[in-house]
Amino acid sequence: MTTGIWWIRRDLRLDDNPALQEAVTHSDHLVPLYILDPTLLSHPAEKRKSFLFDGLRALDASLRRHGSQLVVMQGEPQQVIADVVHTTGAQAIYAEADYSPYARKRDQAIAANFPFWLVHGLTVFPPGFIQKSTGCPYTVYTYFNRAWKSLPTPSPCCAEGKFRIPPLPENLPVSQPIPPSTARNLALQAGEKAGFERLQHFLAGPITRYGQERDLLASDATSMLAPYLRFGMLSIRGLVAEARFAMENATDEQTHKNASLWLDQLIWRDFYFSILHHFPQVLKTSFRKDLQNIQWRNAPQDLEAWKQGKTGYPVVDAGMRQLRQTGWMHNRARMITASFLVKDLLINWQDGEAWFMEQLLDGDPALNNGGWQWSAGVGTDAAPYFRIFNPTLQGRKFDPEGEYIRRWVPELTRVPDKYIHQPWLMPSEIQQQSGCVIGIHYPRPIVDHQQIKERTLQAYHTGQKYQVLESCD
Ligand SMILES: Cc1cc2nc3c(=O)[nH]c(=O)nc-3n(C[C@H](O)[C@H](O)[C@H](O)COP(=O)(O)OP(=O)(O)OC[C@H]3O[C@@H](n4cnc5c(N)ncnc54)[C@H](O)[C@@H]3O)c2cc1C
Repeated sequence: MTTGIWWIRRDLRLDDNPALQEAVTHSDHLVPLYILDPTLLSHPAEKRKSFLFDGLRALDASLRRHGSQLVVMQGEPQQVIADVVHTTGAQAIYAEADYSPYARKRDQAIAANFPFWLVHGLTVFPPGFIQKSTGCPYTVYTYFNRAWKSLPTPSPCCAEGKFRIPPLPENLPVSQPIPPSTARNLALQAGEKAGFERLQHFLAGPITRYGQERDLLASDATSMLAPYLRFGMLSIRGLVAEARFAMENATDEQTHKNASLWLDQLIWRDFYFSILHHFPQVLKTSFRKDLQNIQWRNAPQDLEAWKQGKTGYPVVDAGMRQLRQTGWMHNRARMITASFLVKDLLINWQDGEAWFMEQLLDGDPALNNGGWQWSAGVGTDAAPYFRIFNPTLQGRKFDPEGEYIRRWVPELTRVPDKYIHQPWLMPSEIQQQSGCVIGIHYPRPIVDHQQIKERTLQAYHTGQKYQVLESCD
């Protein structure tokens, strides 16, 4: 009789789970184990932790329907694994491979002491898999995308219900309680079932408008599946299969294009995992060596105004308040608010990266870092650093009626459309009439966008100490 441990980390699902499948195939008894790792839980990310804890409760309920249960243990992983192996007599541990520097170090230590099987499942292709013919990693998304699409994508396997989850062993450690979720009003409900329902909703409608509406801030045209992918409550291979199915069954060119565009976003995810795999230093510094020495402003008050959504620029404030209240922010708003912090306030992108990691339900080291380096113009495939988003024009273009702004910045609810993107231009009688006196009910802009361009370019040019010499091509 063999006993196995399915060590759950970022794969909180039963459907299409290669690590679970491996564990099920080789075990007569199985311990579904989740370790509350104090190192990971010490991060001040209340919303994401609440989403995780709710997801664990949902997974426990699913396992119980199969006659099993989740075993939750708190402690340093090496010690917990040793204890559970000792108590249950487990002969093997199965887990989905994770690729952050912390995860890799942790797993190397476990592999040195236990029979440990890491199974790929977090991305479509393992992060080191797609390379140039020279053996060098791709650092430009378009070429990565082309290489990615030239390969046959692995199909989903092992649907829930098609296999039996082995019973628990007799000697089971006492499971500790899943911590309570403290965050309220989260944008999404956690768990595999909730993720599956959202996916079905997206495929039944919004995907057909994806190309036209995905940048509109008040639209529901994006999938909002990122938090489910963050914790593996949905399988990435399953989403790729759905995108391909939508492409193959599209009845017109536009619908096909929209599904294909959505597939391209899923490939961005693989791309940033690949970048972090090959260049783990990006978590500490800019990918572009020539832009590692920019003199950022030390401006704690401005940083705080940005975090609180009180910059005086409505579209920036709407995004930042949505994030702080719900743990979610629309992709276009992420780009606008990130650009504002870095280019308008000239504050280090790493401060923004840290704040997003603290607030986002989908906060992921690889993707968040990729998004910030892109926005700051210092990353692999970054927006050129001299491209500076104008927050007023971005607002007009992507929230023309101010619907998104009014949803998240209630002080501006009664401000006329004409001034919704520049409320500081309202004549005083209109300020009175709309109940929004600038400087009292809503802040004046903390920086004059028209004047920052020179300062930003100067800082980037001065910081540009030397040119990068490609060592691998
Ligand atoms: C500054 C900044 C920080 C970001 N931080 C994160 C983060 O921590 N976690 C995260 O998942 N995404 C991050 N993104 C990428 C992107 O904003 C989100 O993936 C997207 O908004 C999620 O919404 P959705 O699920 O509706 O995406 P959809 O538009 O429906 O796309 C489907 C999926 O594709 C992937 N995807 C989409 N856009 C990107 C992208 N630009 N880069 C990589 N993958 C993408 C996501 O997994 C997403 O769920 C960041 C972007 C920026 C500009």
